[in-house]
Amino acid sequence: VVAVDMVRLVDDVFDSLRPQKLFRQIELRLCAEGDRHFVQGDADRLRQVLVNLMLNAAQAMEGAGTIRIDIRRAGDTLEILVADTGPGIPDEQREQVFQPFFSTKSREEGTGLGLSLCRKLVEDHGGRLDLVSSAAGACFRICLPVAGGEK
Ligand code: ADP
Ligand code: MG
Repeated sequence: VVAVDMVRLVDDVFDSLRPQKLFRQIELRLCAEGDRHFVQGDADRLRQVLVNLMLNAAQAMEGAGTIRIDIRRAGDTLEILVADTGPGIPDEQREQVFQPFFSTKSREEGTGLGLSLCRKLVEDHGGRLDLVSSAAGACFRICLPVAGGEK
């Protein structure tokens, strides 16, 4: 368990996804208040959460649109919002999407395990993952306890 700079991690994830075919026509934007925001945890697992959310977003947008990640601090909590410009998630599916094996995709495209795993990984870090309402598209919020990063 180490201090992980979420701003840098998001940058790294963007760099790793940009060259992929699925992301060719997707604009990736990062908006962070301040340039370093630390949480305590396992960088590989936190990376997995971000990649999963971004893959879902890219698939929902069918390859064209914008994924915007906002990082901001709210007291002792770091909020990471992952928003896309896809079709969004119907109200009646808002909790179902976190259930294991819930998927609206074909069997080749999705197992329905992504979001339940993401939620577990975030909860293992003492945080929360939920879907927040947005005017358009889907917006997921990761909340993690802030680690003493302001040295
Ligand atoms: P999978 O991607 O394998 O279907 P997930 O657990 O990752 O499983 O997601 C479950 C379901 O939630 C998806 O099948 C899809 O219907 C919905 N979903 C997840 N992310 C988004 C998104 N960004 N936009 C629209 N729907 C989404
Ligand atoms: Mg998925």
